[in-house]
Amino acid sequence: MAQLSPILKQATPVVVEHGEGAYLYDTSGRRHLDFTAGIGVTSTGHCHPRVVAAAQEQVGKLIHGQYTTVMHRPLLELSERLGEVLPSGLDSLFFSNSGSEAVEAALRLTRQATGRPNIVVFQGGFHGRTVAAASMTTSGTRFGAGFSPLMSGVHVAPFPYAYHYGWDEKTATDFALRELDYLFATQTSPQETAAFFIEPMLGEGGYVPANSEFMAGLRRRADEHGILLVMDEIQTGFGRTGRFWGHDHFDVRPDVVLIAKGLASGFPLSGIAASKDLMGKAWPGSQGGTYGGNAVSCAAALATLDVIRDENLVENAAARGRQLLDGARAVGEKTPAIGDVRGLGLLVGSEFVTADGAPDNATAQAVQKAAAAKGLLLLTCGAFMNVVRMIPPLVVTSEQVDEALEIWTDVVASVTNGS
Ligand code: PMP
Repeated sequence: MAQLSPILKQATPVVVEHGEGAYLYDTSGRRHLDFTAGIGVTSTGHCHPRVVAAAQEQVGKLIHGQYTTVMHRPLLELSERLGEVLPSGLDSLFFSNSGSEAVEAALRLTRQATGRPNIVVFQGGFHGRTVAAASMTTSGTRFGAGFSPLMSGVHVAPFPYAYHYGWDEKTATDFALRELDYLFATQTSPQETAAFFIEPMLGEGGYVPANSEFMAGLRRRADEHGILLVMDEIQTGFGRTGRFWGHDHFDVRPDVVLIAKGLASGFPLSGIAASKDLMGKAWPGSQGGTYGGNAVSCAAALATLDVIRDENLVENAAARGRQLLDGARAVGEKTPAIGDVRGLGLLVGSEFVTADGAPDNATAQAVQKAAAAKGLLLLTCGAFMNVVRMIPPLVVTSEQVDEALEIWTDVVASVTNGS
């Protein structure tokens, strides 16, 4: 009998039967409050009726229309609709299926457009698991482990992770920008650098928001040297941070935006957005794929955008995010094992540390496990996997946030007092 590969280690023992809104129901009928949202994917909640209806209707009309062969209506409509929410000037789109593919598409585009080989990424960044995307990922060595050589031409600059450095935000930012200039002087000249790839907030790397000064520093260097600024909004886009885009918090203009996850409520769909001028520099035939921009995924994405607008989900993410962050901070303040609590909107992380401030993965995992036993599903992240993160769907209610915080308060107290 064939079985799933043991490489698929589950964070929880739950086998899910169905989902509704912020809840998942397992095969024994038990209810779980889902503060993972499929790693930030099911933003409209599980099986939102409007998303389900749109997908069902599309399945009966057309499932697949390969976009280099024929065009289909959902893809055209989605491109138009995304134009309404994307930063102005980013009016040309290319679609694929997963976040990693979007990263690869942007990698190809930025290298082709500039004729330059090198990419600068930021320490702790996560961009995916395909070989090129893994080569650009530094949120943990495990993502590139055992299959080197990875892609060459990737250089890593520091991210202003103030808590980790033990500095204030300004000192961490000054350091990160100075190190970037040092990297330009010692590893890749700006003239050989095609692009910066950055997340508005380290996601897998530990839920660490960037800041305006840092982003402005990148933009300045990009403008000065003709480097393209690629904003990986795969985890942070579509209202997740309480603004439509994560980078909206930092008043910065990206050249390319990467989208996936929250775009289609769980249907596989990703893409890149750039100006027509920049996109026109892609080499003909170098971008494509059999399944990219699937018709059912596009129909689901259109419904997702409607739900985000009609149910004011960006505003809800901001309000519920504040409630969640305040609650998590209150727990953090009375828990020595939690060194830092941070977040943007409905991306909230609590970093577990030992008495001497070292990353404490064991306690983070124990808390996650104890929460799952009480019906609250959570994930960990960070290079040391010592940050417990909360990513509920954007439809989460005030009562559900309270319910989660109650379990959180309880399990953090019992695990950390017992350890
Ligand atoms: N970029 C970011 C910021 C992500 O969070 C992720 C997924 N966690 C990816 C890229 C890769 O997406 P996928 O797993 O769909 O390939």
